[in-house]
Amino acid sequence: MAENKGIMIIGEVSEGNLSSITTELLGCGRKLADELGQELSTVLIGSGLIDSAQESIAYGADKVYTVDDPLLADYLADSYVAVAEKVAKEVKPGIILLGQTSSGSDIAPRLAYRLETAATLDCINLEIDPDSKRLLQTKPVYGGNAQAVFVMETDPQIVTVRAKSMTPLEKDDSRKGEVVAIEAGIDPSAIKTKVLEKVKEEVEGVKLEDATVVVTGGRGIGGDEGFKQLEELSKLLKGALGATRPACDNGWMPEKSQVGLTGKIVTPDLYIAVGVSGASQHMAGCSGAKTIVAINKDPEANIFKMAHYGIVGDWKKVFPAFRDKIKALVS
Ligand SMILES: Cc1cc2nc3c(=O)[nH]c(=O)nc-3n(C[C@H](O)[C@H](O)[C@H](O)COP(=O)(O)OP(=O)(O)OC[C@H]3O[C@@H](n4cnc5c(N)ncnc54)[C@H](O)[C@@H]3O)c2cc1C
Repeated sequence: MAENKGIMIIGEVSEGNLSSITTELLGCGRKLADELGQELSTVLIGSGLIDSAQESIAYGADKVYTVDDPLLADYLADSYVAVAEKVAKEVKPGIILLGQTSSGSDIAPRLAYRLETAATLDCINLEIDPDSKRLLQTKPVYGGNAQAVFVMETDPQIVTVRAKSMTPLEKDDSRKGEVVAIEAGIDPSAIKTKVLEKVKEEVEGVKLEDATVVVTGGRGIGGDEGFKQLEELSKLLKGALGATRPACDNGWMPEKSQVGLTGKIVTPDLYIAVGVSGASQHMAGCSGAKTIVAINKDPEANIFKMAHYGIVGDWKKVFPAFRDKIKALVS
């Protein structure tokens, strides 16, 4: 354990650029590395990575390990985990950070198993314990109703970090760093899966995960007509429209709008929940919002335990006045 040193980020590249979660991890990783007086590195796995390597340095990395191979053009757990394991065994970092994304949450536990350590998924805050110098890993538990701090006894300490919970540094193209190429060394026969097709999600307006304002409707909205009123408000606030699982299951909203444990995780500045009971599985997807406003006719609804502002009433009566007031404020 004593020989493991430094912080390593397993970065993600999308269409030739670092993904926003990777720049956020670099912002957080830089702070942790400075506190420990250790090196911050990024591992980039894929094909055609040179621009992203420089971008990593501009966002705070001291060193970038690139594993560039046409076999790695598409994310596949078989190949990416094998490469991450190889690099981690060579570099021996004390901490490995990944994004809480579909690939990050796929790689982290598999990598932890291979490195005989543990992984904590979906952290929202990371700090160094001043005495032990171990990583204090804060994550929401019980569907976002509480937060717990974890400390790992083994190295490397592997964590995934929720999008938008960390802040990237200003990009500084004058920063200098080292780029080290590592051979992938993959045995093609070890790759058991292949990508058959990629379908790009069509998004009109702001993407739900990127929106700073999200207006979400639940079963209490009663049908797709009601969602048109919510959409009007979300457009007014330049936000995105979300839904609970019953609203999607009923076909009032597309499945891609579902917020929650089995839907999308959103971390907007403002989350307006209308006719939403606030079940833990739903709150797991929105408890990272800075401000939650709820409209619900049931004063005992769980959403009011989580909301910063609440209106008790039938949304059909309350909403028009609420929307008109916002309209007046933003115009
Ligand atoms: C494994 C698992 C995963 C799940 N994943 C998700 C997930 O990802 N996302 C998700 O959302 N759910 C998920 N669920 C379902 C979750 O448990 C809840 O059932 C769901 O979130 C409830 O949705 P709701 O709030 O729209 O409906 P309800 O719980 O039925 O609540 C409707 C609310 O609307 C209010 N209301 C009714 N009429 C009005 C009105 N006229 N004006 C104002 N308020 C009104 C009611 O008081 C009530 O509070 C999951 C469940 C399981 C078991």
